[in-house]
Amino acid sequence: MQKFKKCISSIIFGDSLQGYECKVTDIKNYVDKGVTVYKTIRLEKPEGFSYRAGQFAMLAHPELKQHNSDELLWRAFSIASSPLQDFLEFTLLIKYTGGLTQYIEQNIDIGSTLMVRGPFGSFCLDKSLSKIVFVATGCGITPLISMLRTLLIEGTDKRLQFFYGFRNANQFLYREELEEYARKYDNFDFYAAASDDPDWPGFKGYVNPLLTEHAFKGADTHFYVCGSPVAMESIINHLKRLGYPEANIHTERWIKR
Ligand SMILES: Cc1cc2nc3c(=O)[nH]c(=O)nc-3n(C[C@H](O)[C@H](O)[C@H](O)COP(=O)(O)OP(=O)(O)OC[C@H]3O[C@@H](n4cnc5c(N)ncnc54)[C@H](O)[C@@H]3O)c2cc1C
Repeated sequence: MQKFKKCISSIIFGDSLQGYECKVTDIKNYVDKGVTVYKTIRLEKPEGFSYRAGQFAMLAHPELKQHNSDELLWRAFSIASSPLQDFLEFTLLIKYTGGLTQYIEQNIDIGSTLMVRGPFGSFCLDKSLSKIVFVATGCGITPLISMLRTLLIEGTDKRLQFFYGFRNANQFLYREELEEYARKYDNFDFYAAASDDPDWPGFKGYVNPLLTEHAFKGADTHFYVCGSPVAMESIINHLKRLGYPEANIHTERWIKR
């Protein structure tokens, strides 16, 4: 894996940080009504690239520069793979706004190259906790699946729950993997909620009622929450109304960096 020279303002990231050119090894598209909504991309993991589950990286494409500038167009994405896996994985919501994700959707294939810088962020799992509830909506699943994968690969007797809200079955990210974990691990419960799918055979609506009914009780229950800003506000307020202390609700807000 070839390192590339620093090519972004040191004001933002600091001089000591380096970036990598990484080859795409696998792609999975989530297509809904003929449009690619999400894209899961696996990349070769550069030697020496270490991170903690929940952190994010900056991605760029070597050919996509910022307007009127030689600098690459960098964007932040949570790392979905576990640090214990030998690849890097990201799942992108494709925004058809002329930026990086649209460029990736239109130009990236297996064998293409993306730039990776990082890791960044402090949204990480406290491994001393014994009852952990992950709550994700949409693409907000990425940092949480990294945490879950890490716990399960390491082997854990913690009690784990995962609540996932998505629009419809076509947009159900990591479905096979999560359903497989639920079958395989006695200490892992998975709850899925489809907000906009008349044919969905399971729970229809937002995750909030599922949390009311099933989330672990007690002051030792901790929540890791990530999703769209609107969904997160609703979930956090709901958890507070249910009486969980704010200090037990850990969140990642995707504010532009
Ligand atoms: C910590 C963190 C983690 C995140 N994790 C994820 C994740 O796991 N998955 C995910 O999907 N999202 C994630 N996000 C959100 C993601 O970073 C944003 O959705 C991001 O805006 C997507 O970039 P984009 O360039 O495709 O779209 P936009 O940011 O909307 O870019 C389009 C904009 O860029 C402008 N633009 C287009 N081309 C250029 C150009 N060449 N030069 C300059 N400007 C241009 C356009 O005018 C338009 O306004 C995360 C964000 C944060 C902060």
